Amino acid sequence: MNCWICENNGSTGEHLIKKSDLKSLFGHVSQTSPLYLHTKKDKNVKLKSIKKDPRLKSDAPMCGPCNNSRTSKFDRAWGKLSNYLLQKSPPIKKGDIIKLEKVFPGSVKISMLRVHLYFVKLFGCAIVENKVSIDIDQFRKSLLNEKSVKNVYLAFWESNGVDTGYSDMEVESIEGKCVYAAWFYTVGALSVLVIYATPSERRLGQVDSWHPLTITKRVKIGGKIKT
Ligand SMILES: [Zn+2]
Repeated sequence: MNCWICENNGSTGEHLIKKSDLKSLFGHVSQTSPLYLHTKKDKNVKLKSIKKDPRLKSDAPMCGPCNNSRTSKFDRAWGKLSNYLLQKSPPIKKGDIIKLEKVFPGSVKISMLRVHLYFVKLFGCAIVENKVSIDIDQFRKSLLNEKSVKNVYLAFWESNGVDTGYSDMEVESIEGKCVYAAWFYTVGALSVLVIYATPSERRLGQVDSWHPLTITKRVKIGGKIKT
């Protein structure tokens, strides 16, 4: 199996939820204090280790260097932002304005590009794994060249704080080609809405969403419209 990013041989598998996100929420996971995984397929699967359990990893093939050295900067940038947002007191809520300069003093642009690329990596894994009809080439090239993907947006939402993990991906296609796809990455009080939208698609979720070409150094915390 060839790595979907660099196309070289070798396979590891990306963690579906960042290890440090799981650790900050659940503490140490072990044989005596296990974590339980719920997915559509399985309920109450006992996990003994965050690091080693294959059920927390994507099936998309990735080589060691792409999973580690090439993308560790992206993982670290996300780790810093998620830490900041999750440790805020009082907890983040819809309508809050986050000043990114406070999270990444003097390096908002490059750091937020790396946050974007962290989700491009996860999104790419999900596209490969689920065979979604999105051109994966732009995802691989953006990771190899550290450039943004034009159609990928992130929105930061207040979550219900109940589920941690991935949502299923919502996919809309026109004539077999995906024009819009979205999924949530939820950890504690925070949900990241990850959106792929072609220029013809403008959706509600994109309001206040963030893209590396955005000039602003602030993000507004979004959330579900309460009916
Ligand atoms: Zn690779």
